Amino acid sequence: MNPFKIIEDLINEHGSATIRGERLLLLKDELTIVEKERADLYKKCSDLEKEVIELRDKLAKASIPPEFTEYQGALFKRDAAGSYSPIAYCPECKRPLFNTEPKIFPYSCSTRGCGYNVNIHEDLQSIANKLTDGKR
Ligand SMILES: [Zn+2]
Repeated sequence: MNPFKIIEDLINEHGSATIRGERLLLLKDELTIVEKERADLYKKCSDLEKEVIELRDKLAKASIPPEFTEYQGALFKRDAAGSYSPIAYCPECKRPLFNTEPKIFPYSCSTRGCGYNVNIHEDLQSIANKLTDGKR
């Protein structure tokens, strides 16, 4: 049921035509303002939700888990004994990088949608040895 119809009926029963007209105009103005505020707040909320999702995604990609160490743009994983294995990991998705010809091509991430590439100019075994010995 139309809320204006109810108000209009009420005013017809109890008030004059002038009062009824003024009140209806006032209510219509207030409704227009409230509708605009509602639309603005809905858009603002939607924009903030998108921003939160983007920031959470960025934070997850940017944070380095404690078992990893960053070196030359890749991550290297430390085992429980404190030794590093000669495997380079993607800093964005934390999955192993691959390379068929390290002297020619950069290391690449094979995770769909990631596509991270990095040139590592040292042998992975010597990097793992350095990190294990604490020399960088
Ligand atoms: Zn990746």
